[in-house]
Amino acid sequence: MFQILRYIWASPNTLAGLLVVAVAICSGGQAQIRAGVIECHGGLVGRFLCLSFINAAAMNLGHVIVARDLRYLNACRKHELAHVKQAEQWGPLFGITYVMCGIVAALRGRRFFQDNWLEQQALKSGGEVDLRFHYQSERRAPRA
Ligand SMILES: [Zn+2]
Repeated sequence: MFQILRYIWASPNTLAGLLVVAVAICSGGQAQIRAGVIECHGGLVGRFLCLSFINAAAMNLGHVIVARDLRYLNACRKHELAHVKQAEQWGPLFGITYVMCGIVAALRGRRFFQDNWLEQQALKSGGEVDLRFHYQSERRAPRA
């Protein structure tokens, strides 16, 4: 019962994620359902995440995880699932909350992603990630 409410609460972000999944599949990417989450990688979405101003290994949109490719997905899955739990808690406010936490970190002279409160919480809750793939944007490598 409560899990259904979590899906409903996160559904605005998940709907955006489903559009991303459609773009990925239509452009040669792949998708799968695993642990109650839709995972997709590759296609135009994979290339989008590689753009220098994005430079992300993976990200979540509600109950959707998107990644550059399968290797990045496997490396970042556990961490992104921690973000999915956050998306279930924050619902439609997750995106703006994430940005606000990054702005607060930056205003304190810290790093937008690495010192973002939601990133710290994801890491503390067991969402560790292969550091070769995570938080590397300041060093010109992908983040998750
Ligand atoms: Zn993260």
